[in-house]
Amino acid sequence: MDKIIYMDNAATTKVSNEVLEEMFPFFQEYYCNPSAFYHFASEGKKAIDKAREQAAALIGAGSDEIYFTSGGTESDNWALKAVAKAYEKKGHHVITSKIEHHAILHTCHYLEENGYEVTYLDVDEYGMIRMEELEKAIRPDTILISVMAANNEIGTIEPIARIGKLAHEKGVLFHTDAVQAYGHIPMDVEAMNIDLLSASGHKFHGPKGVGILYVRKSVKLLPVIHGGAQEKNRRAGTYNVPGIVGFGRAAELAGQRIKKRMTKETELRDYLIKRVIDEIPYARLNGHRTDRLPGNAHFCFRFIEGESMLILLDQLGVCASSGSACASGALDPSHVLLAIGLPHELAHGSLRLTVSEDNSFEEINFVVNELKKIIERLRSMSPLYEDFLHQNQ
Ligand SMILES: *Cc1c(COP(=O)(O)O)cnc(C)c1O
Repeated sequence: MDKIIYMDNAATTKVSNEVLEEMFPFFQEYYCNPSAFYHFASEGKKAIDKAREQAAALIGAGSDEIYFTSGGTESDNWALKAVAKAYEKKGHHVITSKIEHHAILHTCHYLEENGYEVTYLDVDEYGMIRMEELEKAIRPDTILISVMAANNEIGTIEPIARIGKLAHEKGVLFHTDAVQAYGHIPMDVEAMNIDLLSASGHKFHGPKGVGILYVRKSVKLLPVIHGGAQEKNRRAGTYNVPGIVGFGRAAELAGQRIKKRMTKETELRDYLIKRVIDEIPYARLNGHRTDRLPGNAHFCFRFIEGESMLILLDQLGVCASSGSACASGALDPSHVLLAIGLPHELAHGSLRLTVSEDNSFEEINFVVNELKKIIERLRSMSPLYEDFLHQNQ
């Protein structure tokens, strides 16, 4: 394969050069365990402090409210399991949405198996939760609301500030899985009344295997990973120093560039969406038209099997996805597409293209031109499409 056209930035992103450079010395030069006593360990310690400040600054948090984890999945697990346990005296009710990442949904299933009750909020056709429905779902025994900041499949941005305000009026804690939002769109834990927030390094040009959980100082936080005394006795395990350093630098860069990045990605995205919708018949844009992540385009094509489309794109070196990395390979259509009300047939023909500022208009032109041919070819082989054409003659 000569070259790769990477349009799967919601699955993971390329580590940027500045991030890699910052991480490098911590593999061989300052390889010490930062928890050690001797002076040699102080470089690692200082680097972690700095990264904690950088991670906090991006969301208006205090650096003492940032806990480093192994990534988004761990942060989501920690937030839900720890709050459930710490606030069990108040109640056993948790509210989330039907379109959360599996790191949230499967953790909620686990809570249900352990005596908790979970309300899964419906979403509208754009993938937005309805505030009235959330308000009605809140009960005296509700301890936590967990709603994602932005959806990883269809890119819809949830009304986080309004959810936070309502949660605080009702005295309920608010967690948001901000893995797709952190570093991509502005987030502020104070303005948005967020109590806990999950983010992951590899989703915004940082390294894999490192994330954060932001926890407001007033929230009781129990550990779920037991062992050493790291992270104020709340998250054991030897510090992943290069990873943490990389996370911090990626957060700092995101803070400096967020406006420029958003503008560039939005231009690319809007051009991509316009070409696909204008030029490919029976194509549907999923997610909200404007309240969506700058880099996200997500479509369904009638009479198309999503997997076949991905295979043919892959043969051209185009990295795309059907929606969620976890669902690809599985035969079930995505839970997100079913939640926005798509019928199974349509949900099966989905394509997610997620761009970064590294993509170009030339790449988009190539992908759309090829996609047109692919879809025409697949439809020409589809008996359903034949029937449809005959019926509509
Ligand atoms: C990727 C992702 C996660 C999981 O993060 P990892 O760091 O890969 O474990 C959780 N939630 C959302 C919304 C994601 O996109």
